[in-house]
Amino acid sequence: MSASVHLVNRPPPATILQATATRSRLLFLIETPWMHPTIPAHRVALLTTRPTGTLLIHEIYRSLQGESSYAGLPCVFVRLSVCDLRCKWCDTPHAFGQGTPMDPAAIREQVLAFDCPLVEFTGGEPLLQPEIHPLMRQLLNDGKTVLLETSGAHDLTPVDPRVHLIMDLKCPDSGEVARNRWENLPLLKPSDEIKFVIASRVDFDWMIATVREHQLAERCSLLASAVFGSVTPLQLANWLLESGEQKIRMQLQLHKYIWDPQARGV
Ligand code: SF4
Repeated sequence: MSASVHLVNRPPPATILQATATRSRLLFLIETPWMHPTIPAHRVALLTTRPTGTLLIHEIYRSLQGESSYAGLPCVFVRLSVCDLRCKWCDTPHAFGQGTPMDPAAIREQVLAFDCPLVEFTGGEPLLQPEIHPLMRQLLNDGKTVLLETSGAHDLTPVDPRVHLIMDLKCPDSGEVARNRWENLPLLKPSDEIKFVIASRVDFDWMIATVREHQLAERCSLLASAVFGSVTPLQLANWLLESGEQKIRMQLQLHKYIWDPQARGV
């Protein structure tokens, strides 16, 4: 463990702890993302069982990044448990109902042990657990490149601007198009990415219309990926070429071609 880790973990004086605890309780009431009235309580109930200050983690592992402009690079994945959405094609439903409460310091230690420059927080929905923000900041300060995959349904305001966002815009066939938080669009940086997951021609046409209406190509990078088993890579490639759009990058979910598409932890 490095000297800086030791310093970060040194307990603060009792008076500061007390003030911090009071502030934390207030922030919990104000900021807890799952308290939003549109979020079905039963989908996020598991989060209420974790001890204060911990994150509910489904798995931490190292693999190749399968998507985004970082595809192909070794990456440590921190998969957080629980999601408030239910995309019809979701490939991580196993993260909905299981998890281990972990102290942020222990997560950081496990991530650093991989000695990998790239770290991705994914889920589930990472932004349901606000404790993720100081952890991401610490890893950025450790010199890591931090990616955050999010559904696009939650406020991006608290995210450190050094984090590289990969935000979904949910297409109609996901069943969750109503959850797109359009107020997030102005918060995206040129280095961030918007991902569309395409399950049908309807989704593809919606993506093109959305990109044009919101001039998304001028805002950040755009990714289109096909739902494995619903739209073939060839179909998506042909649709993209026919559309005339020049700035939507097609991507394949690399890990599903390398390993078994149902495999976990890859
Ligand atoms: S947002 Fe992601 S984790 Fe949540 S249901 Fe959709 S695909 Fe699954």
